[in-house]
Order: sequence, then structure tokens, then C-alpha cells
Amino acid sequence: MSTLLLDALNQKADEFISLRRDIHRHPELAFDEHRTSALVADKLQSWGYAVERGLGGTGLVGRLVRGDGSRRLGLRADMDALPIHEATGLPHASCHEGVMHACGHDGHTAMLLAAAQHLAEHGDFSGTLNLIFQPAEEGGGGALRMMDDGLFEKYPCDAVFAMHNMPGIAQGRLVLREGAAMASSDYATVTLTGVGGHGAMPHRATDPVVAAASIVMALQTVVSRNIDPLQMAVVTVGALHAGKANNVIPQSATLELSVRALDREVRTRLEQRIKALITAQAESFGVAAQIDWRPGYAVLVNTPDETAFAREVALELVGDERVTLQGPAVTGSEDFAFMLERVPGSYLFIGNGDGDSAGACMVHNPGYDFNDANLPIGAAYWALLAQRFLV
Ligand SMILES: [Zn+2]
Ligand SMILES: [Zn+2]
Repeated sequence: MSTLLLDALNQKADEFISLRRDIHRHPELAFDEHRTSALVADKLQSWGYAVERGLGGTGLVGRLVRGDGSRRLGLRADMDALPIHEATGLPHASCHEGVMHACGHDGHTAMLLAAAQHLAEHGDFSGTLNLIFQPAEEGGGGALRMMDDGLFEKYPCDAVFAMHNMPGIAQGRLVLREGAAMASSDYATVTLTGVGGHGAMPHRATDPVVAAASIVMALQTVVSRNIDPLQMAVVTVGALHAGKANNVIPQSATLELSVRALDREVRTRLEQRIKALITAQAESFGVAAQIDWRPGYAVLVNTPDETAFAREVALELVGDERVTLQGPAVTGSEDFAFMLERVPGSYLFIGNGDGDSAGACMVHNPGYDFNDANLPIGAAYWALLAQRFLV
């Protein structure tokens, strides 16, 4: 175990717990992280990083070059909060009504800042360290926006890494995974248009409600009949809206779909089958179907060499009793997937707490809070990874 490094970061814990709680008190929604990004930029500059702001709106990069090493490393943290009304009752609870750091991005930002300070002061490395603070991870695709603004052209990286906390896993446990680790996430709005009429005379109307009901049931066969049973896929109809009165056949019905996969081919197959099924079903009922398909986040794939490297760093830091080398894949999504489509790298989870502990409260719950006990461990992981990579 790398106790010296952990000790060094434990000594800074109070400073970075205060910082984390300050960010928690002032949460900002996607692409609105002005205060947070200003705070991050100020800190990085004060420690000697060259900072560029305005990548992907409120995103920024801090760069530190040391020695003559040619390797270039990217470490990413996310900064945005969620539209949730906080119910923790904690002294550092959000002071912004209806906005809350309910996914722990305040902790991710603070962990990377703690590592940034340590590396600037004591970092024994040779090469280029790029610290990437991205906006809008929660559905806004902030990673993609930073890449559109030239992130990897301006700051080339040989590998990129990111970390997310995970409730339900013992505090401080590091969970890695090679291969597909998080799902793609696509969305569709389906509008069915029939002919409205009197509920007493259905033969004089074309009922989109019956078509919608049939489509919802038919969609259940996509996963069960069209996808390899050994593959993961999700098709959820999360909203179905039609009609207002018992004696009126409405003119239209709309469905909202969430579609997820852990494999790029499965993702493509889902889209093909869902579109074909809806089109054929609608035709059979005589209604028109319009499908607005919106691709969301890609499948997050951790590359083998970089994951093997990240595992070695985790083992060196906390020992094999606190590392899961190959954790399960999860059906949630993460826009770091877009960075991994361009640059090899690996994404890991750090346990936020399990059992009856406060840290076990799930992310996106109004009672959630990032576990501050993870700040030194997460920061030490980043510091060690940077020093082992940049040699
Ligand atoms: Zn989240
Ligand atoms: Zn998150």
C-alpha cells in the first residue's frame, strides 16, 4: 500500500472537505457552472497550472508540464449538478432552490483539485498532465462539446481516465472493469396520428390509443426475440400520453422511449427493430407514426492496456482487499464514453458506502451526499496514476 501518499493527502483532507462542501452549497446546472469553473480555474492557476477556460462553454483544462517526458495524460472530473430539491438537512446543503449536487460531481471536482495541488507541489513526474474539468455530464453531453471545441487537438492525450463514486459499494473500494462498462443511452419520441371522433362511434374514427397500447406490448418482444439472450438491452416506454375524456377518441398519442445497450451492434439492432416494429404496427392500425430518434451517450468501453495499468495503480494504492478487478457493467450512461471513443483509457468507480451507512443512499436521490472520506483516496489515486504514467 502506498501509505506515504495517502498520509500526505489525508493531511490536506480538511482543506478539500471544506472546498467540496463549498461547491456542494453552490450547485450549478449543466453549462451553467460559472462559479464552479471560476473556482477551479483560480485554484489551478494559483498552483502553477496553465489554464484555458471556455472549452465546451464552462469547461476548462489545466495543464502542467514537467521534465522532458513525452507522454501526455488526461484526467477528467465533471462539475454539474441536478435539478433536484435537496432533502439532506446537512449544514452544507444546497443554497440554490431546486438544484443539488446529487451525483457527487462536487466530490469528483474536489478529488481532482486535491490531486492537482499535490502534484504541483510534490509531483515526481516527467511529461504533460492535462486536468479536464467538464460541464454538463448529466445529459448535456459536455464532454462532446469540449471535444467539438478542440479538446484533444489542443491538449493531445495518450490516455484519459475518469472516476465516479458509487453508493452501495463499501467506502473507498475501487472497482474497475475492462471492456464495455456503461450502456449507450438513446431516446425516441413517437407520435401516432389517427382520426379523432366520438367515443360512441369508434368506426368513424382511427384510434391512436389502441395503436399505442399495441406498440407498447410489441416493443417488449425486441429484447426477448431480437437480441441475443447473452447480451444486455433495455427498451423502456417511460411516458404514454393520449386523450383527455372518456367519450372522446383523441387525434394523437405520444410515446417516450429510453433504449440502452452495452454493445455497439446491439445498439444498432435495437434502433432498426424498434423503428420497423412501430412503423408496421402503426400501419396495421391505420395511423401515421412519426419517430424522432435522438442518439444519446455512447457505450463506455474501457481499453485493455489502460485498464490493466489502472488496476496496478489501484492495487498499489489500497491493496487487493479493497480493489475489484472486474466489476459488473452498469446500465447507466456517462458521456466520458465519447472521450474513450477518441482516446484509450479507463473509468472506475469508488465506493461511496454500503449497508446502512449514509453513503449508501443512491445518486440522484434528494438524500444523497458525496462521502468526504473518499477525498484523500480518490486524490491519491489520481496522484499515483499520474506519477506512474508520466515517466
Ligand atoms: Zn448523475
Ligand atoms: Zn454522475
